[in-house]
Amino acid sequence: MLNIVLFGPPGAGKGTQSEKLIEAYELVHLSTGDIFRGEIKAGTELGLKAKALIDKGELVPDEVTIGMVVNKLDQNADAKGFIFDGFPRTAAQAEALDRILEEKGTGITSMLSLEVEEEELVKRLLNRGKDSGRADDQDESIIRNRIAVYNKETAPLKDFYGSQDKLHAIEGIGTLDEVFGRLRAAIN
Ligand code: AMP
Repeated sequence: MLNIVLFGPPGAGKGTQSEKLIEAYELVHLSTGDIFRGEIKAGTELGLKAKALIDKGELVPDEVTIGMVVNKLDQNADAKGFIFDGFPRTAAQAEALDRILEEKGTGITSMLSLEVEEEELVKRLLNRGKDSGRADDQDESIIRNRIAVYNKETAPLKDFYGSQDKLHAIEGIGTLDEVFGRLRAAIN
């Protein structure tokens, strides 16, 4: 299996590049943010709980998030591989993911980390907020909180995957196709 963690701060381009990668490599896109937004739209209990946190730019608890990922993996048992987008975001999630994949006789192939500096992220997210309808993209203080949460909780996962020799840092500035070319080169 080809299991890629597409990593990077909010606004780095993970969602957009995931779309291109799933097409090129016939992978299943596993975006925890998309799943949460689907639950919110459907008005489920999980969605209601998640919404309060997402709207503040805080993380949804690990237990809830990991359980959701397990379900999605089980629903796609015959997949060629997965693009993990927005997951894992904490050490507990990364450790759980390794355990879960190991039980399935597989593992993470590589972690591709899109590198974009903070002011560019804020600019991109405020721009996206104009037409995405996402409340968490429309308020600069929430955006900055999401980036702070990323720096504190999520960025350290680069060391986690680095120590497994799986980390590839990818310059996230450039055209869509330029960035995609760098991702493809890293995978191949
Ligand atoms: P995203 O679409 O990846 O930017 O995620 C939007 C929001 O969903 C985040 O700001 C978090 O509140 C929540 N979220 C998404 N993925 C996770 C995760 N792996 N762990 C905890 N919260 C998450």
